[in-house]
Amino acid sequence: MMDQGIILRADLTSRRFEKEQLDRELRHKFVGGRGINAWLVFRETAAHIDPLSPENVLIFGCGPFSGTSAPCPARFNVTAKSPLTGILGDSNAGGYFGPAMKRAGIDHILIQGKADEPVYILIDDGKPAIRSARHLWGKNVRETETLIKRELGDKRIRVASIGQAGEHLVRIASVIHEERAAARTGMGAVMGSKNLKAIAVRGTREVTLYDREGFNTCARNLHKKIGASNAYEHFRKKGGSTGTYSTDKAGFLAVRNFQQTGGFEGIDNFEPLKVAARYYKANKPCFRCPIGCGKKFEVPDGPFAGEWGNKIEEGAFTPLGPVCGNANVDSIFKMNNMGNQYGIDLIEFGQAAAVAMEWYEKGIVSAEDLDGLELTWGNYEAMMHLMEKIAYREGVGELFAEGIVRAAPKFGKEAEKYVSHCKGMVMAGVDSRMLKGTSLGFATATRGADHLRALVPVEFPAFPVMTPEQADAKFGSAEVLNPVSYNKAGPLIYYQNISILPDLFELCRFLLGLGTGTKEFKYDHLAELYYFASGIKLDEPQMLTIGERVFNVERAFSCREGMGRKDDHLMGKWAREPVPNGKYKGELIDPEQWERMLDEYYRLRGWDKNGVPTIEKLTQLNLKEIADSLKQAGVYG
Ligand code: SF4
Repeated sequence: MMDQGIILRADLTSRRFEKEQLDRELRHKFVGGRGINAWLVFRETAAHIDPLSPENVLIFGCGPFSGTSAPCPARFNVTAKSPLTGILGDSNAGGYFGPAMKRAGIDHILIQGKADEPVYILIDDGKPAIRSARHLWGKNVRETETLIKRELGDKRIRVASIGQAGEHLVRIASVIHEERAAARTGMGAVMGSKNLKAIAVRGTREVTLYDREGFNTCARNLHKKIGASNAYEHFRKKGGSTGTYSTDKAGFLAVRNFQQTGGFEGIDNFEPLKVAARYYKANKPCFRCPIGCGKKFEVPDGPFAGEWGNKIEEGAFTPLGPVCGNANVDSIFKMNNMGNQYGIDLIEFGQAAAVAMEWYEKGIVSAEDLDGLELTWGNYEAMMHLMEKIAYREGVGELFAEGIVRAAPKFGKEAEKYVSHCKGMVMAGVDSRMLKGTSLGFATATRGADHLRALVPVEFPAFPVMTPEQADAKFGSAEVLNPVSYNKAGPLIYYQNISILPDLFELCRFLLGLGTGTKEFKYDHLAELYYFASGIKLDEPQMLTIGERVFNVERAFSCREGMGRKDDHLMGKWAREPVPNGKYKGELIDPEQWERMLDEYYRLRGWDKNGVPTIEKLTQLNLKEIADSLKQAGVYG
C-alpha cells in the first residue's frame, strides 16, 4: 500500500518540528498538492489575519506521483493567505524540488510562526533541521542556491528560496527553485515575513507505491507515447515564446496595456523558431519530463551578451514584451534573469510597468513622479531600473512593491482606471473581452485573474477542440462554441473543475494540453496511474467531484475573508472599454448579460446569490467543517 504521506510541521518561533500522518480520508477528498495545501491553510488560519504576520502559514506540497517514474511529476505547490490579494494564494513550479520532497518522505511542509533571525530549513532524507541564513540574507536566488549546495557539500540538494524581493516583503515576490518560479500571489513575501530564506531538501528514498510493477509499466508506455508524439513538438522545439506568438496571431494578445489586441508590430522577433535558433543551447527539462520545454539559453551578442539561464516562459515573453510595447527580445532574457534572481513575479511586474507606461503617455505621471524614469513604451532600461527599485523597495519602488492595484490610488483617482485585474491580481496579457466564458473564468478564478485557471477551450475559435455535435452532446448546446455568447456558465464550471486536477497530482499542465487532456495523456491515464500508486480507483465523475471540492474550499476561503458577488467582475479598462481592433473590434462586456451569466454560474455551482457556497452544497461535497467555519464567521448572515 502507498504510504499516506507525511505533513512536516515546522514552527519557526519555537524551532520545533512535528510529523503528522496524512490520513487516508484527506487523500480521498483532495488527492494532494494544491488540494491538501488549500484545505490545510483553511484549517490552520483564522479569518482576517495579516498575511505577513506569524499567524499565516506557508505550505509546500507535492503530489502522489512526485518523484516516481510517471511523466512530468515535477511540480510543487506553495500556498498561504496571499499578501497581494488577501485571499488564498498559491503558485506552483517544476524542476526537482517536489520530487526531492517526496523522496525525502515528506508530502507537505507546513511552516508556521516566525524565526527570530534569517534561517533556512534543511530536510535531509526526512530529518529536518533549522540552520542560520544570516550569511545568505541579501543574496539573490542563484547565489543562495550555490552557497547552500556548497555548504552542504552536495550539488544535488534541491533548494527553493527567495531573493531580495521576498526579504523586503514585496507583495509580488516569488519563490524560486533552479529558475522555476512559483511566482503568483506573493508567496515569496510570506516566506520573507517568516525570516525563511530557503528550504533545502535531499531525498534519496524510493517512493512507496501500491503496485510498483503496474505503475512502472504504465508510466513506461506513457513516456514512449509522449516522447514519440507530435502533439508536444511545439513545446519541445520552440520553448516559451510559442504562446506569445500564437496568442498574437489569434488576436488575443493584450498589447501596450490593452490598447491593442494582437497585431503587435514587433511580433516577428518572438517567432518561436527564430527565438530557439538565437538563444537556446540545450534542453533543460524538469524531473522525468518527456516533453522538455525548459531550455538552457544564452544571449549571443549585443549589450546583454553572455546572459544565460535555464528557463524562460511565456510568462516572461508576453508581459515584458508586447504588453509593454517592447520588441527587444535580448532585454527580455535579461529581465527574466533579473526577476528570477530578485524573486519577482514577472507577470505582475510587466503588467505594472505597462500601466505606468500608459500613465506616462497620458500625462498622469511624469518622470519626476517615477524617480526620473522615463517609462515610454518599450523602454526596457527604465523597466530594469524599476524592477530593481521594487526588489529593494527604493524610492518609487516602495509604492510598486505593494502591487499595482494598491499602488495606483497613490497616483490619483484617474490612475486606477488603467489597472485591469480581478481580486487584486493582474492577468497575463490575454485579452478576453471577446471570450465571455474565459472572462467569467478570470472573474471567478479562486486566486484572482488567472490565465491558467480561467480558460474555456471550447470557445477558442483559433484552436477548435470540439465539433458542434460534440459540444451539443457535452454542454447541451453548440452555442458554447461562439466566443461572444454568454451561454458559458456550464462549460466554465466543467473546465474549472477538471483543470484543477494536474495541480492535485502536481503534474505539469503541459502534459494535459490546456488542462483537458491530450490524445497521449487522458484523464483515464491519470486514473490508471493513481490506482497503481495508491490502490484508489477513480473515474472521471469522481475526479470532477474532487476538482469541484477543492474549488469550493478555495472559494470558501475568499468568502470567509468577505469576498462575494461584488468581486466577481473584471476591473479596469477591460471591463469598460471595447476591443480596439481586429476581428472582434467593438466587443465589450455587457453588464446585464454578465449579471445573468453570473446568476446562472452561481445556480449551477450551488452557491447563493452572493456567490457563497451553500451549506447544502458544502455538505454534499463532504465539506461540513468548511460550512461550519463559514457559519461561525457570520458569512451566511
Ligand atoms: S513540459 Fe516544461 S514545464 Fe513541463 S515538466 Fe517538462 S520541462 Fe517542465
